[in-house]
Order: sequence, then structure tokens, then C-alpha cells
Amino acid sequence: MTPFKGLNRVTSPFGPRTLNGRRENHKGQDSVPTKYPGEPLPESAWQVREVTGGTVIRIGYDKSRGNYVDIRTSARHFERYQHLKSIVVKVGQKVSQGQLIGVAGNTGTGTARHLHFGVYKVGANTDHYKALKDINTLEQYAVPPQQWSGVPNALGTYKGNDTLDTPPPVNTLKTLTIGPMSAGDVITLENMAKDLRLRIIGEAMSGVGTILTIGPMSAGDRVTIAGKAAELLLPVTEK
Ligand SMILES: [Zn+2]
Repeated sequence: MTPFKGLNRVTSPFGPRTLNGRRENHKGQDSVPTKYPGEPLPESAWQVREVTGGTVIRIGYDKSRGNYVDIRTSARHFERYQHLKSIVVKVGQKVSQGQLIGVAGNTGTGTARHLHFGVYKVGANTDHYKALKDINTLEQYAVPPQQWSGVPNALGTYKGNDTLDTPPPVNTLKTLTIGPMSAGDVITLENMAKDLRLRIIGEAMSGVGTILTIGPMSAGDRVTIAGKAAELLLPVTEK
């Protein structure tokens, strides 16, 4: 499960980061919904879904978190959703996995509209059920994403391992044939393809250089790859 239905893009992973010149430990994962190739991003894509299922234990607002919801998902864990534009659940309400809890916004501190999602474990030696009702007074441990759902913690796009997510339409995938090019340009484009997790499906030598065929890939990746090829003054064919 991911908080947004469809494709999600991690804009700031969990863990140490530098923000406004300051080192800090980012206790959650920032993400935004992202569109399928060629599709507009509707407002409904910003709807936030409960990732695990549980009970709403707190709804609040503060200057840094904005509007936020805490949901107890087990005896010792709760999830926090920050910067929400609106919240449609109430304290005490049980919510199931996938249920709409609100809409992501840009409340609190943030540079752009996004969802901050974090999983916390409360401190040991406490009555955990009671403790979760008063989580402000407790030590909270942020749980790395790998420990809660296997959702990748890297910058970029992921689909989650999520049965509710709809895969992007296959018919929009295309391959790009680029070149002829120099050995240096081959390395540049192959590295770029690797970063985007794209396959090189053809590498042909001609008298004037190498011709690469990369793909199949989404429209977004085509913009990235073809943009680089244009920068390197290389001819591109789309198929
Ligand atoms: Zn964040």
C-alpha cells in the first residue's frame, strides 16, 4: 500500500538530509502523486489513503506539520500524515486499509504540496494503548520505510507493492533509437538509462558511431532521454 493511489513519487526519502543548510533526520517519507504517461493529474490523485488500517488517535494542527492525523495501527505503532489540506476522519474512528482519510495539501512548513508520511514506534516500558493516546509525552522512534512495507525509500517513482495501484497503460510505452554517437555519449546515455531502470535493447555499430535502442519507456522517461540526446545533438527515432 502507498498513501496515494496510482504512481507515487518520493520527493524526500526517510533519513538524514540537509534542508535549508541544516542537517536533520527526516522522520518520514515525502511523496506526491504523479501522473501516468500522457494523463493529466486530477485533484482526486491527492486523496490520501490509510496505508495499514487502524484507529484515529489524534487530529491536530501545528506550524510545522500543518494539518495532521495520527492513526494507531498496532499496539506499539502509529502512522502520521502531515501537511493535509483536509481531513475526513474523526478521532476514535476505525479506518481500514485503503480508506480515504483526507487530501494532501501544503499546510505547515513545506516548499510545495506534498504528503509527509511517517511510521512511529512508541517508547518501551509504557502502557502502550494508553501511551498512544498521549504520544506527545513519549519518546517516539521513527521507523524506516523498509521496516513497514517494503516501499522503496529512494527518490523517484515507485508503484509500491500494491494491488490497489493500477499499472500505467502499456500502449503508451515506446522505445527510442538514438545515434550514431561517440563512445563517450554511449556511456552518458547508458548511465541515464540505468538510473531510470530502462533496458538497452540494441547497441549497433556503424561507420560513424554507435546506435542505441532503449526502452520500452514511459512518456516521462522519453522526455528525459530524448532531452539528453538533443543536448548531445544526436538524432532520435521513437517507435
Ligand atoms: Zn517530510
